[in-house]
Amino acid sequence: MSYDTNNIFAKILRGEIPCHKVYEDEHTLAFMDVMPQADGHTLVIPKIPSRNLLDADPKEFGALMASVQKVANAAKQAFGAEGVLIQQFNEPAAGQTVFHLHFHVLPRHEGVPLRPHSGKMADHGMLAGHAAKIRAALEG
Ligand code: 5GP
Repeated sequence: MSYDTNNIFAKILRGEIPCHKVYEDEHTLAFMDVMPQADGHTLVIPKIPSRNLLDADPKEFGALMASVQKVANAAKQAFGAEGVLIQQFNEPAAGQTVFHLHFHVLPRHEGVPLRPHSGKMADHGMLAGHAAKIRAALEG
């Protein structure tokens, strides 16, 4: 399967649709998931196009995983979480719904279940607040 340049995350990268940005560097962008499965659910994506992990250039992984780690630590701190779940889906059979490589960063609290994947759209004011909390933790 090829890369569709009109997928939602490609549009976010081009600035054609808005996002609640958490972090950006030369290689990566991180922003709030609009249907969060946990408070602080953030997506980390590479700027270079690939459909998912299976067709990505491994040379990108260093920068990408460094951003995943950075955002995971900040989200954990911002939400007082006890753990962080990192998820990444490849192709529809594995649950992928947006076809630009992304890592889910999910702060987790003991005994608190995840909400459904691609479930309910969150309030934008709340997402903006969550993004600000993670940005503050990143600025340390
Ligand atoms: P996947 O199922 O491909 O691993 O995850 C795609 C994620 O993107 C889902 O968690 C879904 O809630 C999120 N998502 C879908 N559309 C948008 C959007 O327009 N903006 C943002 N920020 N997230 C989205």
